[in-house]
Amino acid sequence: MTLPALPPQASTAMSAVNGPRFVADLRALSRFGGRDDGGVSREALTDTECQARQWLVQQLQGAQYQWRVDDAANLWVRRAGRDENLAPVMTGSHIDTQPVGGWLDGAYGVMAGLEVLRALDDAGLSTRRPIEVMAWTNEEGSRFGPGAMGSSAFADATRLPTFLAAKSPQGDAFATERDKALAATPSAVHHPLGHAVHAYVEAHIEQGPVLEDGGQRLGVVTFIQGVRWFDITVHGSSAHAGTTPMGVRQDALLAAASLVHRLHAAAMARQDPDLRWTVGRFEVSPGSVNTVADRVRFTVDLRHPQEAVLDAMEATLRTALVADAGACRCDCRDLMRRAPTPFDPRVLGVLEAAAQLTGEPYRQLGSGAFHDAMYLADVCPAAMLFVPSHRGISHNAAEDTPEADLIAGVRALAATLFTLADAN
Ligand SMILES: [Zn+2]
Repeated sequence: MTLPALPPQASTAMSAVNGPRFVADLRALSRFGGRDDGGVSREALTDTECQARQWLVQQLQGAQYQWRVDDAANLWVRRAGRDENLAPVMTGSHIDTQPVGGWLDGAYGVMAGLEVLRALDDAGLSTRRPIEVMAWTNEEGSRFGPGAMGSSAFADATRLPTFLAAKSPQGDAFATERDKALAATPSAVHHPLGHAVHAYVEAHIEQGPVLEDGGQRLGVVTFIQGVRWFDITVHGSSAHAGTTPMGVRQDALLAAASLVHRLHAAAMARQDPDLRWTVGRFEVSPGSVNTVADRVRFTVDLRHPQEAVLDAMEATLRTALVADAGACRCDCRDLMRRAPTPFDPRVLGVLEAAAQLTGEPYRQLGSGAFHDAMYLADVCPAAMLFVPSHRGISHNAAEDTPEADLIAGVRALAATLFTLADAN
């Protein structure tokens, strides 16, 4: 791919990134819900997260800035462009964490966006289009399911009513907690949910080992892989373990175990390094030592970058459920399906040119995890930028990234956002 030429001011924007200031701000955010072990407990819409929101809106103030909020409690700052009628360039991520998460997952992308705006101010650079830095609501999905509610509702506002009805395991309603979050930042101007976006770029830690293993500081993320979840029930017949001859049994456990084994063999036979096939739940009924099992439920999590491979593996699965269940019968229910998300070639070109401009080692890679960018890709040209995760650890208090890598990512983001926001 021939990379696009970046405007000269992209270098100016990149050089204006203040690394120590950025790291200090990122550490300041990590104190909201910060733990002694270095982790952060800041689940979506909790009091702790609301305090972090209040801190966030104090970070950028000035005539060129406006803080905004919408019905999904997405919180963002908009830096005015020279033409306020043009669709903004958008960046950001999320500030909620897992019950015990790391200090970088999500927070990195939000604070990287704020640092880019500060760098543009310091460099005296304006942009043709406005730039918006988003903190999407409830990306993690641990307190309220499903995850990525804010970005998902932004992409399709008809999803919001279902989300508002969601309840936490403690019985807190999403709608009530959302209202608290909105009340926590009264200075933020309320805007309708969803608007036109020129392009979206999300910076995030990799949460995997690829960049660290390869010695790269930056990752240009070209896609998020597709996923399908299935809930499979094998129906047999319970029988006395001592009196029922082997030949006449309908043993649901034996059939399920055999299916899992055959499907695993079929997946391995494809010799495809990108294929992920996981049985993570397996429930046996009645679960008695001296009774033949009459029912087994198990789940399948299937992932791949290509829809055609997902189709082929699903066909293998459905054929096996009929052909290989022996004397038993199988039901298969879809729990979730999401097509692979390819990112936009034009945005990727700018990102890669920006990565090159930093002079840091970089590579292209795919994302195995979901991100808010997945939903933004439904409504605008989108892409992601990764920085390494130490030993690939994430969703864990030990999550970490060297400061130099964190700063390299912000420098690439600055050149990218300036280029996209100053273009036609
Ligand atoms: Zn995240």
